Amino acid sequence: MSSGLKGIKTIRDFELADKVLFLRLDLNVPIEHGKITDETRIRESLPTIKYAMEKGARIVMASHLGRPKSAADKQYSLEPVAHRLSELLGLEVILFDDPKSDAIKSLIKVLKKNQAILLENIRFEPGETKNDIEFATILAGYTQVYINDAFGSSHRAHTSISALPEMVKDRGVGFLIEKEIHMLDQLLENPKKPYLAILGGSKVSDKIGVIEKLIDIVDGFIIGGAMAYTFLKAQGKPVGRSLVETDKLNYTREMIARMEARKKNLFLPVDHFVTTDIASGKGEITKDGTIAEGMMGVDIGPQTIKNYCAAIKEAQTIFWNGPMGVFETPAFSQGTFAIAKALSENTGMTIVGGGDSAAAVEASGYANKMTHISTGGGASLEYLQGMKLPGLEVLRTKVRTPSI
Ligand code: AMP
Repeated sequence: MSSGLKGIKTIRDFELADKVLFLRLDLNVPIEHGKITDETRIRESLPTIKYAMEKGARIVMASHLGRPKSAADKQYSLEPVAHRLSELLGLEVILFDDPKSDAIKSLIKVLKKNQAILLENIRFEPGETKNDIEFATILAGYTQVYINDAFGSSHRAHTSISALPEMVKDRGVGFLIEKEIHMLDQLLENPKKPYLAILGGSKVSDKIGVIEKLIDIVDGFIIGGAMAYTFLKAQGKPVGRSLVETDKLNYTREMIARMEARKKNLFLPVDHFVTTDIASGKGEITKDGTIAEGMMGVDIGPQTIKNYCAAIKEAQTIFWNGPMGVFETPAFSQGTFAIAKALSENTGMTIVGGGDSAAAVEASGYANKMTHISTGGGASLEYLQGMKLPGLEVLRTKVRTPSI
């Protein structure tokens, strides 16, 4: 077992036949005009649901979707998800919108073998994001076994992630969390060398924790995205109108010095793809590392791509978080997609963080060539930094007796 799961049980440890199983999943998928545009999180939840079905559990699934202000925010309904789950599982998924009513207990009692309940968006309940004891007590009232498989939500101390399992004796994690922690632990414990961290995206500030944690473990950092301009500016290079975090320049300078002192490789862009206006979708390649006044860097340039791909080829372990440019615009996606291709050709371990990085790899067409793509953006970064995830920590604590 991965050390990150020490002291935590898994779904295999429980007798599930006829038991009411509360399954917290992360079914927070992007939906446009009622259609799911990326069903990765649904598919990644299937092994645990199928296992519970095979073992004969009475399943009550719960997830949030987006950030609804109230239950009236119908665009955040899990209805499309319930429909897709029914298709993928070949069973009837009953979307139920009042987890606090007595009616749910009656429904659970008469649930048939080919049926499962999916609670409507758990954030429609005002108590969910408040880690509310009262709401948790009601859920615990009908939960016999609690399983958390919502990796992407485990960094949130919300009711269905934290207060509820605190009250249930039989609790643990599902197969997705088990896989995620196992993969992320491999980035921290005896990784094969050379080990490269590729960091991009919009801000240095979001990645400080990860850089601090990985600086003693990796052999080198590849920096791209808007983050790179803060690094280049810190080195006194001209970056034009590119996005720079001026309040992080001193820190970045100090970090570069620490990387040098530890003899870590630091790869920064040596040319760029620049534009005057992101919305135009047009731009040009710079001759060298200089970005002219009035221009903005939106992607890494061709020589940089070559340098980065050569380093990736040599690596045995790679962690990638954050796109190399504004990849959502096709003209600015070449750097990001070239990195995805290089990772797809690497024979070592390639692990991609969730969120925008997962979306970028998905868009590149190389997703199925990665060792692992995390389903959690914030959760994977927080875990790697060594922060405690509330959804995991609670599973190690003593059970709390319901107070009402
Ligand atoms: P993050 O959420 O920090 O991983 O950042 C992802 C976002 O960074 C994406 O939406 C990209 O469009 C954006 N991004 C990447 N490179 C740049 C850049 N050079 N300038 C502005 N935004 C960028």
